[in-house]
This record gives sequence, structure tokens and C-alpha cells, in this order.
Amino acid sequence: MRSPYHYLSMPDNHSTDTVRVRIAPSPTGFLHIGTARTALFNWLFAKKMGGKFIFRIEDTDLERSEKRFEDDIIEGLRWLGLQWDEGPYRQSERLDIYERSLRELLDKGLAYYCECTKEKLDQDRQAQQQEGKAPIYPGTCRDKNVPAERGQVIRFRVPEHETISFDDMIRGTISFETGLIGDLAIAKNLRTPLYNFAVVVDDHEMRMSHVIRGEDHIANTPKQILIARALGFTPPVYAHLPLILGTDRSKMSKRHAATSLNEYRMQGYLPAALVNFIALLGWHPLDDKEKMPAAEIIEKFDINRVQKGGAVFDVQKLNWLNAEYIKEKTGADLFAMLIALYGEEKVVFHDAPTTVRLLEIGKMRMERLSDYEALRDSFLPHTYDGALLVGKKSTREAAAVHLSKCQEIIRGVLVHEFTQENLEAMLMPYANNEGRAAVLWPLRVALTGQERSPGPFEVMGIVGKDESLRRIAEGIEKLNGPSSAA
Ligand code: GLU
Repeated sequence: MRSPYHYLSMPDNHSTDTVRVRIAPSPTGFLHIGTARTALFNWLFAKKMGGKFIFRIEDTDLERSEKRFEDDIIEGLRWLGLQWDEGPYRQSERLDIYERSLRELLDKGLAYYCECTKEKLDQDRQAQQQEGKAPIYPGTCRDKNVPAERGQVIRFRVPEHETISFDDMIRGTISFETGLIGDLAIAKNLRTPLYNFAVVVDDHEMRMSHVIRGEDHIANTPKQILIARALGFTPPVYAHLPLILGTDRSKMSKRHAATSLNEYRMQGYLPAALVNFIALLGWHPLDDKEKMPAAEIIEKFDINRVQKGGAVFDVQKLNWLNAEYIKEKTGADLFAMLIALYGEEKVVFHDAPTTVRLLEIGKMRMERLSDYEALRDSFLPHTYDGALLVGKKSTREAAAVHLSKCQEIIRGVLVHEFTQENLEAMLMPYANNEGRAAVLWPLRVALTGQERSPGPFEVMGIVGKDESLRRIAEGIEKLNGPSSAA
């Protein structure tokens, strides 16, 4: 049976052309990947519907809220490109507004002061648990008329025998029995509202049409609907996003992957790749396409097609997407990003133009910007055993002959023509004649000292003529000298 408070999908005081949604994080920790997902889905919905995206900081819990967390959240949302249209509003700056509504509820008898101590509440809870009952506030102070001075908290009077239902855009109709809610604390005092209360007042004051948030808030929704009703507000339309799971399908935690957005930034994930990946945490387009820029995601986004079941956070997919986005960047783009991320000292190889060229060549092998260190490393000289110069099917003598011949050819290349392409054009005829592996293996090992590395022409193009010849001469020495004994 439908209760009179079964809200249909669009409240009548809001029309579709005034979609207003929000991200309302509590600054009690660094920007979490789950909050970033909630922000993104709200932002996408606002963009899709031509609505507004509002940013509100829920900092009424003064003990746990910190400025550094607020800064991290603001910076993270900006970095992702989730620009808000209004805000950030801070609940700590809106205490007068909450006080007004708290007084209204107290005056109407819809809220009351409760003097139960924490010890008393703990005892009640234990007794209820022993009797196998749900642990809810037993209503001790409901009709006691406790004066404000003795109040520990202000409680909201929840009607006892009612069903509260709402149509969730993702999960369909959800119903709760009010008897299982119990009178809930809505403020510590007139100047200290608690979450469920402040949210209702703000969602109304800020004219939210829809509330899109994580599944962990479902149990709060009937409480918020009741408070809204008591204040004469029409509640927004709700949509609860699925949980984010690790690959083992348990709730995602640090055990599975980094949970703070900033960690992803520092590891060199690009914002566009993260936005793309996060959009797929619970949603996918009809055509199942995976790599999509934000504009295409907005075009295809449909909140009604968000899944109910948990969304698996697959780091390998993120890595694949990130590599795709890295490939699209120029060496100069990547150079600028790396400098911004890690600083010049850690990034520049020889000089800026050389580093840009190195990135141009190496970007195909990078999944994350942090892979740059290993990439750059592969162009540095390494100590190695001379035996490595002799390819599997070659001999020390043959390797020495081929290296010497290469040395001779390379000496003849002018410094200003010393490019990967020219070197390839000059050396490949010889390699094709003598056998590619026989020639290119010792050449590459001499240049890099590594079993696996970028190709010899790439390396020479980056490290230049003098350094290439120095490395080759050292290789020849190893093959001829006593230390080369394989
Ligand atoms: N401040 C709440 C949180 O950080 C979100 C509130 C809401 O979306 O209703 O989880």
C-alpha cells in the first residue's frame, strides 16, 4: 500500500528545466575516490540536463573537519575538471539558517530536548540487543519536556507506525517502517546541527531537485524525508549509486587500491583518464564503448541506466585507459605535466628539447607518468657484463667486427644530422646484409647495457653522437679485453 508520503519521481515544485544537484563532502579526510565518483555523476547529470552543479562543504562536525582536507577536496575536484556553478557553501557559515528551522521544530513539538547521557543510551542499546530487538532510541525523553539547559541533544519526533517510501531513480521504490528508525538526534544544540538535519535544510534552501549519492546513504533517506515533511519541504528526487568494490567483490578499501584521489594524481594518472574510468564505475553507455572523452560521456550519460549492483574498481582497466590518454599527448604536453608533478630536477634529461623527444619516443611504453623514471633510466648507461654483447647465435669475434663497423658508420654522421631516422637509414643496409640480429643486438647492448631496452637508433637519437660513440667504444673494449671472457 502506498503511503501519502510516497514521492513520485519529480517533485511538483521543481520542473525538469531546473535541475540542481550537489556534491556535499565532509572535510574529514582527503578526497576519496568514492566522493569523486559521486561528484562526477552529479556533474554529468547536471551537464546532461542543462542544470546546475552545486558544491557544499558539510563541516558541522568541528572535531573531525580540517582545513587541509577541505583544500584537498577543492583542489581534487578542480583537477578533475568538475567545475561547480555555485559554492563552495560551508555549513559552518550557515548556522543561523539551521537554528531557525530547529526552533521551528521545537516550537511545533516536532522536536524535543533529550537529556539521556551516553551511558544511558549504551545501556538501552545493550538491553535491546539482549532482547533481540533493533537498537533504536526508546523515546525516554519524548514527553518529558526537558528544558534546553539540560538537553544533551535535540531529537526529532519520528511517527511510530508509518511506511515511508520513495522512488529511487536507480533502485526503484524503497520503503522503510518508521518504527525501526526511532527519534533521531538532529542537533547537539541550536548552534550545532547534525548531518541529517543540516542536509535537509540545505537541500531545500539550495533548491536541490535531485540528490545523487552513495548507497551508504540509503538508510538516511527516510529520516531526511520525514524531517523535510515536518518543515513543510518537498524532498528532492533520490538516486543512490552502487558501492565501489575491489576485484574480489568486497567493498573497496586501501587493501585493493589507493582510495585517495591525490594518490592517483601523484602516480601520474591523467584527469581525463580518471574521469573516463570513474564514469564507468556503475554506468556504461549503450554501445559499451569504454574510451570516451568527457563531452561524449555527457552526451551518452543516463542516470536511469546506472546499475544497482556493486561497481568493480579494476586498476588494470584504469592503467589501460591512462596509457591510451598518454599516447594522445605530445612530448611537450607530457613534459609540462611531469615538471608540474615532480619538478624539473627529477625530469629533465640532458635538456628540455631532448626530454621532449625522449617522451615522444617513450610515451608508447608509459601507463602512468610515474613510469617516466624507468623510461629515462633506460637511456642512461648501465654497467653490464661483456658477455651480454654476444647475441645468442653470434660469437665474440663477430660481435666485435659488427660493432666496429657500426662505429665507423656512426662517426661519419654529422652532429646536426644525428637523428634516429638518419642513423637508421645509414646503418640498416649494413645490418640487412650481415643479419639484423647479429648487428643490432651488440649495438643496442653497447648503447644501453641492458638485456631489454629501447632500440639502438632511438637511444642514439636521444643521447647524441659523442655519448653514443663513447658507449660503443666501451663495448668494443669489453669484447676485446680480458674482462669479456664469456
Ligand atoms: N556529507 C555527506 C558525506 O560526505 C554527504 C551527504 C549527502 O550527499 O547527502 O558522505
